[in-house]
Amino acid sequence: MKQILWASALVLSGFLGLGVQAQAQSSSSASTSPVSTPSDGKTEVLWLGQAAMRITTPGGKVIMIDPWLIPNPKTPAEYKKLENLGHVDLILVTHAHADHFADAPALAQLNQAPVYAPAGLQESMQNLGILPTELTPRMNKSGTVRPFGPNGVKITAVHAEHSSELNWLNPTTGKKEMHVGGEPIGFLIELENGFKIWHMGDTGVFGDMKLIAEMYRPDLVMLPIGGNYTMGPKEAAFAMRELIKAPLALPMHYGTYPLINGSPLDFQAALNAGGNRTTEMVVMQPGDKKRF
Ligand SMILES: [Zn+2]
Repeated sequence: MKQILWASALVLSGFLGLGVQAQAQSSSSASTSPVSTPSDGKTEVLWLGQAAMRITTPGGKVIMIDPWLIPNPKTPAEYKKLENLGHVDLILVTHAHADHFADAPALAQLNQAPVYAPAGLQESMQNLGILPTELTPRMNKSGTVRPFGPNGVKITAVHAEHSSELNWLNPTTGKKEMHVGGEPIGFLIELENGFKIWHMGDTGVFGDMKLIAEMYRPDLVMLPIGGNYTMGPKEAAFAMRELIKAPLALPMHYGTYPLINGSPLDFQAALNAGGNRTTEMVVMQPGDKKRF
C-alpha cells in the first residue's frame, strides 16, 4: 500500500514542475499483443515513449528500462496497465527523475523484479520505504553486474551528464521533499549472444563517451535527442559521429512535450552534415517493436 501511495504521490507531484500535455497516440503496432513473444535468438526492443524500453533478450529475459508509462502521454493505452507488459525479470532506472522512474516501484512489486539504479537512489528507496532491500540490489557507476547468473546478461553502469534529484511527495505530511537520487547513469547491456546495447539515460555530450565506446563497443545506442534537458539533435549527432561511432542509433526522449522538440529528421540531417559513414539511424514510434 505504501508503494501505491508513493507512486501516486510522485505522479501528482509531476516531474520538475513540467506541464505534460496529453497527445494523441500514433503507433503502427500498438494493436498487437503486448505480451512478449518467444525469443528466436534475436533481441526485441519495444519503445514505450520517452526513455522507456522493454528489451526481450535472446535468452528470453525481459528487462524494462526507465518505466514511465502510466503518466506518459506517448505510451500506448494498452501498456498503461503494467500487467500488459508481460512478466518483467529486471528493471533498470538511469536516474530519479519521474519521467524515468515513476512506475518502477509498482512494476517491481508486481513482478517481484529487482531494480538496479544509481546507488543513492537505492538508498533513498530503502530509507523511504518505497521498495525493500531485496528488490534494490546494490551497484554503482562503473560496476558490472550479472543479475541472471555467471553466463547471463552483463550490465555495466556508466557515466551520464545530467542530474538525479528524487522529488518525493511525502504521503504522511502531504509536502514535497527532495531526496538523494544518486548520480545519473547509463547502462551498457551485453546480451547472451554478445549483442550490446547502450541506453544512455538522460545525458549531454561528454568526452568519455569515446572511452566508453572503445571499451564496450556497443552495437545499438539508445540516445536522447530532444534537447532542453539533454543532448539535442546536433549534439547527439556529434556524439555518434565523432565519439561513439556505433553502427545503430535509436533516438529517444523527444517529442513527448513541446520543450523537447528535437526530431529524428534533424538528427539524421546533423549526422549527414558531418559526413557520417558509420551510424545508421533506427526510428521507432511509441508502441513499435523491432528485432535486432
Ligand atoms: Zn532527467
